[in-house]
Amino acid sequence: TDFGYREVSPDEKTQLVGRVFSSVARRYDLMNDLMSLGIHRLWKRHFVATCGIRPGQQLLDLAGGTGDIARLARERGADVIVADINREMLATGRSRMDAIGLVQGLEWLQVNAEALPFAANHFDHLTIAFGLRNVTWRDKALAEMHRVLKPGGRVHILEFSKVGLPALAKVYDTWSFQVLPRLGGRIAGDADSYQYLAESIRRFPDQPSLAEQMREAGFERVSWSNLSGGICAIHRGAKV
Ligand code: SAM
Repeated sequence: TDFGYREVSPDEKTQLVGRVFSSVARRYDLMNDLMSLGIHRLWKRHFVATCGIRPGQQLLDLAGGTGDIARLARERGADVIVADINREMLATGRSRMDAIGLVQGLEWLQVNAEALPFAANHFDHLTIAFGLRNVTWRDKALAEMHRVLKPGGRVHILEFSKVGLPALAKVYDTWSFQVLPRLGGRIAGDADSYQYLAESIRRFPDQPSLAEQMREAGFERVSWSNLSGGICAIHRGAKV
């Protein structure tokens, strides 16, 4: 495959993302640890801890993958639906959770973020961690996220973003474009997937642009905060 440095069409992107996550599903968690030197666990923990989740609230974790966010949200007493487009990711997560007895209050659904099979005004919280970048039609997904939230409900987006410090940006670029694809090649036997990941991070809107897209989808009180110098950002917004 050759998709590293060229534009891909929307259809191609959808197929590509499907291939990437099917191919990495079983080693996804290990790769995350290696790629981020374990830091993704801290980012996720901080992300969920600052969502303001109260016991009994309904939370939709979109692009929930193998369930990292869902597990943390369950610990805070939310009822969680993990929704992801990829069956292999869901299956990997589900068997891992079953193994540790995390079954109650947790549902797994194969769902496309661009067309959510839920009624309007249903969820208190909607989380999406490292997922929005992979969605082909971001505007559709944001509009759907807004639709399914209750009035007063909040969206929480954790995603790679734009690094501010030039020195850090340089190190980070080398890491994602030189080191990661090689690591992905060796460990997951799949350099292309990791090349895609690096590329998709570079193409994703920076902090103010994503905030603007959230406002266009109807969210209010939109704000963001950077993690690790902007390697990641948490964007939040409310449905009023
Ligand atoms: N949220 C998990 C985490 O933080 O570990 C998984 C993140 S993983 C990098 C991205 C996930 O987005 C994959 O599981 C992929 O299948 C899912 N995804 C991509 N496009 C999607 C779509 N259109 N609708 C729902 N999920 C999607």
